[in-house]
Amino acid sequence: MRYKHRLMVPGPTPLPPEVTAAATWPLEDERTPRFARLFVRVIDGLREVLRTRNDVLVFTSSMTGAFEGAIQNLFSPGDRVLVLNNGAFGARWVDLCRVFGLDVVELSAPWGDEISPARVAAVLDGDPSIVAAVAVHSETSTGVVNDMAGFGAVTRDVLSIVDTTSGAGACDLRTDDWGLDVVVGGGQKALMTPPGLAFASLSERAWHFHRRAGLPRFYFDWTAAWKAFDREVPQSPWTPAITLLVQMDAALRHLREEGLERVLHRHLVLGRVTRAAVRAMGLTTLSPDDDRSAAVTTVFMPDGVDADQIVLEMGDRYGAQIVGGHGPLAGRVVRLGHCGYVDALDVITMIAALELTLRSLAVPIPAGAGVAAAVEATARHSGAVPGLGAAGEAGDLALEAAGMGAPEPAVLATSARGGR
Ligand SMILES: *Cc1c(COP(=O)(O)O)cnc(C)c1O
Repeated sequence: MRYKHRLMVPGPTPLPPEVTAAATWPLEDERTPRFARLFVRVIDGLREVLRTRNDVLVFTSSMTGAFEGAIQNLFSPGDRVLVLNNGAFGARWVDLCRVFGLDVVELSAPWGDEISPARVAAVLDGDPSIVAAVAVHSETSTGVVNDMAGFGAVTRDVLSIVDTTSGAGACDLRTDDWGLDVVVGGGQKALMTPPGLAFASLSERAWHFHRRAGLPRFYFDWTAAWKAFDREVPQSPWTPAITLLVQMDAALRHLREEGLERVLHRHLVLGRVTRAAVRAMGLTTLSPDDDRSAAVTTVFMPDGVDADQIVLEMGDRYGAQIVGGHGPLAGRVVRLGHCGYVDALDVITMIAALELTLRSLAVPIPAGAGVAAAVEATARHSGAVPGLGAAGEAGDLALEAAGMGAPEPAVLATSARGGR
């Protein structure tokens, strides 16, 4: 038998069946009123997930495209920008800002450590020429989730930019309450959509920076995106990934039906279950034992065990796809994804596969230690959330099979503030 593939990495993530089915919907022209309703609904759904009334723009690209676009749309060469770097994605932002000629002040911490808001405040207080600060919300390379409420609080006087790629839909994020000016992310992590769509939410202050920014831009030009969205039939300036938008619409509907609070709680519990299991196996985590760490758990392999080999063997023998570490963590850790369309049994399966793989390499793990702890931790939370033992409602099968279901009205009135 060809093995059954189980995707357990922190992005891309498994798709709900109706999101897969939505890809088979006949293609639509993207400049019709009918498609515009879907487009507006997707944007409103993203605003709900980001908890913002700010404008949201959607781009056809991986996340890095939208990051690059943010820099082009906000800055001029020589602008002084603080970039927090405690992992591979923070490092990517440092490189990106430097490529565009920004004057980067780097604030770093060892991989696995947080960067406290107090340190950010100290740097900003000491250097009034800094105009903006960039932070990664959920640092997927380590599993650390940085304190974005604190970051927002200490960046009131500068422009704040947040990369929430594996955060949105898994970890608490309150764009407006926390005063985050630009929040950039994409669909392929907890938002249960195949890779290829990115988004950015923009505050008044972000638009203000945009109007003065001097870097060249074209494909990611926010004014072009806003003008197209602001037409009588809202649309994107260039051909969007139509199929992915239909899939994201289905994914956001799925999320809305579960309810954002319950979705976040499910992720929090899955983080606890995963940490309890690996601890019971005698392993240590790099990601902190903290409820905020809800999207991915980073686990050190025992001395003498090549983590990359574990990843390969687990895939080859059991069809369970996890991922290793970047940079200084390469070969030392495995990363277990538990964000998106994931439930307790998925995590228990992943832990069982990890146990089996370690045992096959003669690492002495008592049989079932991790699984027993995962079952125990799940049982403690059962009743809380569907997918964790509470009775859930089966979806409407006919609607699910159709992929899109009946059209829903737009939820938030779109604000009309952008671009001016
Ligand atoms: C996954 C992830 C990205 C992905 O960027 P791509 O351009 O899609 O490779 C960026 N930032 C963070 C924090 C991520 O977790």
